[in-house]
Amino acid sequence: MSTSFSDLATPGVQGLKPYQPGKPIAELEREYGVSNIIKLASNENPLGPSARVLEAIGASLHDLQLYPDANGFELKQRLAELHRVEPECITLGNGSNDVLVLLAETFLRPDSEAIYSQYCFAVYPIAVQAVGAVARVADAHPPDHDMPYGHDLAAMADLISDQTRLIYIANPNNPTGTWLTEDALRDFVDRVPEHVVVVVDEAYFEYAEVDRYPNASLWLNEYPNLVITRTFSKAYGLAGLRVGYSVSHPQVAGLLNRVRQPFNVNTLAQVAACAALEDRHHLIKSREANLAGIRQVQAGCEQLGLSWVPSAGNFLLVDLHRSAGEVFEGLLRRGVITRPVDNYGLPNHLRITMGTAAENERLITALGEVLSDA
Ligand SMILES: *Cc1c(COP(=O)(O)O)cnc(C)c1O
Repeated sequence: MSTSFSDLATPGVQGLKPYQPGKPIAELEREYGVSNIIKLASNENPLGPSARVLEAIGASLHDLQLYPDANGFELKQRLAELHRVEPECITLGNGSNDVLVLLAETFLRPDSEAIYSQYCFAVYPIAVQAVGAVARVADAHPPDHDMPYGHDLAAMADLISDQTRLIYIANPNNPTGTWLTEDALRDFVDRVPEHVVVVVDEAYFEYAEVDRYPNASLWLNEYPNLVITRTFSKAYGLAGLRVGYSVSHPQVAGLLNRVRQPFNVNTLAQVAACAALEDRHHLIKSREANLAGIRQVQAGCEQLGLSWVPSAGNFLLVDLHRSAGEVFEGLLRRGVITRPVDNYGLPNHLRITMGTAAENERLITALGEVLSDA
């Protein structure tokens, strides 16, 4: 066949590289023949979902021949209560990833600009480039900053122009774990002109236990151009079901709703998310386990002479002070999956998700072995 389909694709898509996910357990099993694998690569909750979620899913299995509720009535009600807004402010997504893409599809065209930071979550560049818009990438803080590789809001503000329509900010950011304080973020949002939509991605909100960490969804009344995204994939332990959402001005939600696939959040995901919101205890347990994990892995890294970037999430960006590829491979051979971040421009780091205490122990032991082998 003589056609190159690549020539037929839009210029934005031609230049795209696919998102690189964490290596699935089954793939490592197939490729390396190892068993008893632990995955600390995708910031999933090692405790899994709440038992109430599993019960709720079980009870709704007999409804699977029916389409899901396209408006997600029940879940939106509960999220509206949680955020003290009207249900019209909520947009549900197939993961918050879906909403991040809907925002680009809704507000960007080829001559408009979107701003994000160097070392930001990989979905922002993909979403922007897929619609053919212009990405303006702000330099991140330098490695010796107290938030190394984190968002530099002053640098981001400098890139705002008449063409800017969208700014993506992750708080905390993935893969760095760095965060923005209430004062800093508010000052920034205050300076952004009204023709620019500011997306604050709070995927790790429930894990963030750091000083002066803001809940930006409380500022919607003051800043109607603000959109906050949250997810059930991280602290709620529902990554496999794909459900997230945004809180925004109702007009913004109305626009997103025009683009959104009508049945983008499936029945089980809606039921599970509702049940997850009811189990405060599981959330608290998950947060405590994470904090203990952060301390445990930091102590292990310290013993091994490694440093790390401060994190408000459920993962640590660990500096190996050498190229990470071989270490990543060595860990794989020992059945431990972590996340290389060279594709983010960080060739000497690994991003490691906090597991259970036993998993963290295995990681530290394996890391020690790999480092002394080399
Ligand atoms: C994991 C993550 C998300 C989205 O996850 P979904 O599973 O699509 O909800 C969004 N933003 C950041 C920064 C993340 O790390």
